Order: sequence, then structure tokens, then C-alpha cells
Amino acid sequence: MKKRLVIFGATGSIGSQVLDVVRANPDDFEILGLSAKSNKCLLEEHSNDFNPRLGWTLDISKMEEMAINPNTDMVVFACKGTDVINVLIESIRHKKQIAIANKELLVEYGERIMNEAKKYGVQLIPIDSEHSGIFQILNGNKDREIEKIILTCSGGPFLNMSQEGFKSITFNQAIKHPNWKMGKKISVDSATMMNKALEIIEAHHLFDITPEKIDVLVHPQSIVHALVQFRDGSLIAHMGYPDMRLPISYALYYPQAKENNLPRIDLIDKKLEFYKPDLCKFPSIGFAYDALQRKGNFTKKLNQSNDKAVEMFEKGEIRFDEIFEYVRKGTFL
Ligand code: NDP
Ligand code: MG
Repeated sequence: MKKRLVIFGATGSIGSQVLDVVRANPDDFEILGLSAKSNKCLLEEHSNDFNPRLGWTLDISKMEEMAINPNTDMVVFACKGTDVINVLIESIRHKKQIAIANKELLVEYGERIMNEAKKYGVQLIPIDSEHSGIFQILNGNKDREIEKIILTCSGGPFLNMSQEGFKSITFNQAIKHPNWKMGKKISVDSATMMNKALEIIEAHHLFDITPEKIDVLVHPQSIVHALVQFRDGSLIAHMGYPDMRLPISYALYYPQAKENNLPRIDLIDKKLEFYKPDLCKFPSIGFAYDALQRKGNFTKKLNQSNDKAVEMFEKGEIRFDEIFEYVRKGTFL
């Protein structure tokens, strides 16, 4: 039987790749509903391609109706931002399968979301590549005690630039990621390493793990996405070609797995490097640990001040290097 999907954020980078996977596997999935924020034109185009039974919408209350429709098997959160928090909560309460790329929701409402998920026995299947990697490692190692989780990050386009150089970085330079093709906001976050800060918080909630047990390593090749070290000293890595359609396929097919013709990594002659992140040049990672340690709504403030800072950077109201100070003040002062 086909898995029936509702996809939020269908016009974005992740949403389009979700549709690519569905397009390549028409016998396995049916699209029931699609949504976006404002890009009606592209949404109509997708709708003509997939002919969703429940149609498409730009309206949050309609999104909720689509999510909880009795025919919906899985709800895919490929949208950004936190406006859809109640849609997510209702999807959990209606025991829908949930695939989630949207990290802002987990950063701001992680505790509430995971409490509901526990209460209703719903498992959130992450799409974010690092978290998909951890999820996959833990899936085969349920009874082993975790010593630490390591998230990798490419370091973004300015890993080797001097701090002085940060002052003249333009928005267009910041959205050119060396390994991944992503939406603009997350590309800037990768350049500031704020993306990794958000992912530390995301991992803390998704895997119910204390921040002291979460580490970050810079890995410029983006081949190892995550590692889990167990109490017995084993360190298990998840590797994959840097292509979001791989974690998307994993989430859409979960708990099954299906073969695909997406690119594979050839490890021959590949150099895999790992470095400690430079927290002086990229203080964002430190902000995440601080915000988690202080409890309260610091993670929410971190996400919101970063959203605002990226918006201001895009409009040319602040420089790239000023994002860090803007976020620090917005979160902790
Ligand atoms: P994009 O900016 O490319 O797309 C965002 C999508 O969400 C669009 O469909 C947009 O609609 C919709 N949207 C925007 N604002 C809202 C809102 N307030 N309510 C509902 N829908 C909204 O983003 P990405 O695809 O890059 O990222 C989506 C999410 O996935 C983010 O949370 C990001 O952090 C996460 N993620 C992305 C990765 C990537 O490779 N891109 C990797 C891992 C995680 P419209 O087009 O009409 O504006
Ligand atoms: Mg990621």
C-alpha cells in the first residue's frame, strides 16, 4: 500500500527534494496535501504534477486539517520557522508518522514536542542529516549506553578565512556552501556555525541526551555526518554522500528501507579530516551550550535573535561579523 504524505514547505529546498524522492517512487507514495508560506505559483505547479487529493494551501488552519485527516499516514515538516508548532502537536496527538527537517521547532519547543511524542508513543524521524545519522546508529544499538554523540560540521565557506576577513563577507558569499545545496537562511547559519548550535539543541531534545555528552567536530568533507561513542568505547560513524535525498528517503520509507540510485561515496583515496572547531572565530557553538545550561527560554531567544540577525545581514543592516554579537546580546542580555 502507498504511504500517504502531507508535505509542509513543499516549495523549499528540502520540500523540493522530498518531492524528487516521491517522483522517483510513484508506486510507494501518494501526496495528499502540500503547503508553503507564499509561493503560490510553485505550489500550483507541484500540485499539477502530483494532484494531491486534499489540495494545497498557504493557510495554517488548512495545514492542520490536512495533517490530521484520517487518510494521512505521514506528515513531513520541510517548512522553516515555528508558526506550525500547533500543527506539529496536533499531528503527534493524532499519532501520525512524522518526518522532521524543521530544526527551529525543536530548538524553541523541544521539550513540549518530545513530551507529547512520548505521551502518544510517536517517534519523530529526523531528516537533518546529522540527526538522521544518529537515529540510524541508535536504531541498531538500542540497549547500549551512550558515552557521547558527535555532530560533524563542514565548517562552511569561511572555515579558513581570518577573523579580520569576516568584516567584508557579503550575503551572496555566505550562501554559497561548499558541500550542500540548501535554503538561504540555513546556508548563512552554516557559514556562522549557528546551524551547528541549533543542531546541538535539536540533538539534545531528539535523543534525550545531556549537552555535556554532545560534541562537535569540523569535518570539511561532509562524508561522516555523525558518530556515536558507546560506553564500551566503540565509536560508530554514519557516512553518506552529502545529498539530502538520502536522509529524506530514509525518513519517508522508515521503518522499511528501499534501494535507490542516489550517489554513493567512493572511499578510495578519500581523505577524511576532523578538527576541533575554533570557538573564538565561531562563538555560536558556545552559545548553544550556554543557552541549554541556563534553562528557561534561552534557546528560544537564541533562535529568534539569530533569525533576526540573518534577516538584517541579508538587508545589509549588519555585517557578517556582527551577527555573533547581535545574537549574543539578543540571547543573554
Ligand atoms: P527554504 O527556505 O528553502 O524553504 C522553506 C519552506 O518553508 C518553503 O516552502 C516556504 O514557503 C515554507 N515556509 C516559510 N516560512 C513558513 C512559515 N512561517 N510557515 C510555513 N511554511 C513556511 O528552507 P530549507 O528547505 O532550506 O529548510 C527547511 C527546514 O529544514 C529549515 O528548518 C532548515 O533548518 C531545515 N534543514 C534544511 C536543510 C537543507 O539542506 N536545506 C538541511 C537540514 C535541515 P515559501 O516558498 O512560500 O516561502
Ligand atoms: Mg544538518
